[in-house]
Amino acid sequence: MAEKNCAVCGNPYKGIGSSCKDGSYCDACSKKLRLVCREDDAEFMSASQIREMLNRYASKIEAYDTVQKPETCPFCGKKLPKLLNLRMLDAYICADCGNRAAEMLHTGYDAIGYKCFSEIAPLFSQAAVQGGKEDASGRFHDADALRIVYPLIRTLLEDPEGGYDVEYIDPLDSLSDAELRAAEGLAAQRREALKTQYGEHKALFEVDDIAKLYNESKGRRGYRNEYRIGGRVLFGCINRKDTAAVTRADGTQSFCIKKLGDSRAYSNDLKEVKEGAECGLFIEGTVSCIYPGDILLID
Ligand SMILES: [Zn+2]
Ligand SMILES: [Zn+2]
Repeated sequence: MAEKNCAVCGNPYKGIGSSCKDGSYCDACSKKLRLVCREDDAEFMSASQIREMLNRYASKIEAYDTVQKPETCPFCGKKLPKLLNLRMLDAYICADCGNRAAEMLHTGYDAIGYKCFSEIAPLFSQAAVQGGKEDASGRFHDADALRIVYPLIRTLLEDPEGGYDVEYIDPLDSLSDAELRAAEGLAAQRREALKTQYGEHKALFEVDDIAKLYNESKGRRGYRNEYRIGGRVLFGCINRKDTAAVTRADGTQSFCIKKLGDSRAYSNDLKEVKEGAECGLFIEGTVSCIYPGDILLID
């Protein structure tokens, strides 16, 4: 077989090689690339993009085989499990921390394995990942208890490749110490005010939008007798099989919550949604009495 020059490193090589968007490259480059990028993704990259990537991670790729597995996870400090751990380019972390990083970056768990420690470390100082924030005196303030006044803010970022990416901003990250210390009191006040207004309930849910669900087959929509009610948990926490009630002039109607979905896909099957979180309630039956802006009483 004739010798070719590698589109990435320029060295002559024999064999088939691997192909990228605008050429093919040698097995030596391919072996390095497998450490920093998925094979499927490499097919859509140009030779110069691959070269740039290999250069950026050159020292990490060089040292790949010398990385030792530590006793504890460098992020959470817990004992590193034998199996449930994730090998990154230059570190090992536990699977829990890997999942949390993937969630914050809106990427897959596997994609975290191609990154290096310094790329994801900044995420772990964020309150949303830590589950709260410490004040200057070292007291830890639990995020779940404060979401009633400081919920995560969902924003849309324009994706250069088209469409939008969802990004979450955590107001806890930018609170001053004084604000952080006052937050607990504010949360208690808010709960008390809601109780006075709506009475004692397990939870309250504010409706943003209502969609009738359908199945699509051969271009036709078959509507089901099932609805997804999107909104936010104002107070308390909601579980599957809870009852949602709405009161109108002609009486109260109540529905069983069949399924709970998260705010992004509305499709995940959650057991519980916490105070302050956005979610979708799945309800069977006719819900024509529910409108955006309604407060559902959950029990
Ligand atoms: Zn090469
Ligand atoms: Zn960990």
